[in-house]
This record gives sequence, structure tokens and C-alpha cells, in this order.
Amino acid sequence: GAGTRIFSGVQPTGHLTLGNYLGAVRRWAEVDQHRAEALFCVVDLHALTVEHDPARLRRVSRQAATLLLAAGLDPELCTVFVQSHVEEHLRLSYLMECTASDGEMRRMIQYKEKAAREQARGGSVRLSLLTYPALMAADILAYGTHEVPVGEDQAQHVELTRDLAVRFNQRYGATFVVPKATHPVVAARVRDLQEPTSKMGKSHARTAGVVYLLDEPEVVRKKVLRAVTDAGRDVAYEPEQRPGVANLLNVLAACTGGDPRRLAEEYDSYGALKKDVAEAVVEMLRPVRERHAELAADPSSVDAVLRRGAERARSLARPRVDAAFEAVGL
Ligand code: ADP
Repeated sequence: GAGTRIFSGVQPTGHLTLGNYLGAVRRWAEVDQHRAEALFCVVDLHALTVEHDPARLRRVSRQAATLLLAAGLDPELCTVFVQSHVEEHLRLSYLMECTASDGEMRRMIQYKEKAAREQARGGSVRLSLLTYPALMAADILAYGTHEVPVGEDQAQHVELTRDLAVRFNQRYGATFVVPKATHPVVAARVRDLQEPTSKMGKSHARTAGVVYLLDEPEVVRKKVLRAVTDAGRDVAYEPEQRPGVANLLNVLAACTGGDPRRLAEEYDSYGALKKDVAEAVVEMLRPVRERHAELAADPSSVDAVLRRGAERARSLARPRVDAAFEAVGL
């Protein structure tokens, strides 16, 4: 209702995926921006936690913002901005590092997974990969956020954010709203089409199992039709035993507004299911692709949206971050 604040973000680490859309962005556009003071952020600082290319980062940050607008975020209704444009995130992040413990950072699943990936590639693990959740907590808490609409992969980080808010408030006096994560009912975790035990992620090296929002219809069809399915032939919704088919049913249900269990009963072959999934995804992404073409033709309009967004975000964040500095004795 009135007074509710919503904050969420995406990393500019590549084109947005179907997982980003179904797990988060679609609901930001269809629901969240209409019912609350909502802020959506391209979290470019978070992209520095793993190896990156400076020229590319600037380009993909604007690209990510363009995609958010194409996906339906309306700058008349919500605030769209880039994290590094608002220095309050960095100021508060340090206070969060001084609130969190080393042990609770090391327990984060995403840290363990990404650190293992970096080490497997022979690279070193940046310290910021470990402290990532402190910056994320700052992103959220700076705005007095009540709700954080995210995919399930982010649940643990939001839980930690809650712990940090409570701890800070206990130590230094009531400063932060304690936020909660909200997840979509269906497709809160979209799986990779080629590796249905892992999530569909935009930074995956192998992209055959990842559908991107701007994939041409032919590409979407090819990826879906080649999706890995499970042993057996009949279509049944068994997420544990048959993650490949369950994933396709989740995607179809999310696209059409149906129920994955009930949808399973309508199909007697994987082929027919895949065909319908492909068409449903193509139809859902069609307006996003069309809006994107218009926006990409006018990049200065996107820059103007981001400038206005940063001003608005800064004005909302500054008083609370100033109060936090004062509360700790700075
Ligand atoms: P990625 O992991 O693809 O780089 P981000 O970390 O930028 O994505 O996350 C942006 C939003 O998309 C978050 O709310 C995240 O929970 C959601 N999200 C990312 N991947 C998936 C997925 N496979 N299924 C559901 N939601 C996802």
C-alpha cells in the first residue's frame, strides 16, 4: 500500500535471461511499480567482484538499463538507476562490513560457488566477492526498503540483510527498516535448459541452455527444442526426480498463468510440450524485443532516465545513510 518501499536490482554481467525475467523483472513491471515506491538498480559495483572488462562494463550497464525499460519498467512510475551513480551505497556498505562477521559472509552459497568457479579458472578470488552481501545489504537498507522482490537464489542474501538490519538497530538505535524477500509463486528458480540442476544464469560460459530476452524467435525455439529432458517419456511434474521436464512446465506455467502440475496432465510427449513452451516464450518476449528496438535507437533518452533516477535515489538514500553515520559515532 501507500508508503511501501520496494528495492531490487540486476547485475550488468550480460544480457538479461528468461530466469531474470520470470524470477524477478516481469513482476517488477506488472505489479511492483504500480503499488509502491519502487527502485530498480543496475548494480554495476557488484559486477566488479569477478574479472571484468572496463569498456564492456559501461556498455552492458546501459544495456541492462535499456532492457529493464524494454521489459516494462516505466520511469514515470518507478526509479531506474545505476548503483555507482549514487555514492550512498558505498558509504553504507562500509558500515555493513563493520556490522557483519567474517563467518557469516563465508557461509553464503553464492560466495562458495563463485569462488570455486574463479579458482577453477585459475584466477584469484577478489575480496569484494566475499563482502558482496554487505554492499547488497547497503543497497537495500539505504532506502528503508520493506520488500525485495527477487528470485530464490537471492533469498540467503536478503536473510543476511535482515540480520544486519536488526543487529545494527540493536547496537545503535532504530535506523533501518527490516526488509523481507518476496518470490514469484511459479518459476522463482528457472533452470538451465542444458543443465537443469543449476539455475539459468546470465554469466554462464555455455549459453545453449540460457534463453536471453533479445534472442530471435528462431534461437528461442532451437534452445527450447534441444532442452535436456529426463529419462521416461510421459510428462509428469516431479521437480526432484525430473528437473528438466519440471523446469519446462514451470516456464510454460509462468508464461501462460497456469499451474505446472495441471499442465503436465495435458501433454503426452516431451516434443509437444517443448513446442508449446517455445511458442509461449516467443510470444511473451515479442513486446520486449519491440520496445527494446525503439529504446536502443535513442540511447540518450535512456541516459536521461538514469540521470533522473540517480537524483531521486540519492535524495531518498542520503538522510538515512547520514543518520547511520551519526548513529555509529562518525
Ligand atoms: P544472474 O544470476 O543471472 O547474473 P542477477 O544476480 O543479476 O542474475 O539477478 C537479477 C534477478 O534475477 C535477481 O532477482 C535474481 O534472483 C533473479 N534471477 C537470476 N537468475 C534466476 C533464475 N534462474 N531463476 C529465477 N530468478 C533468477
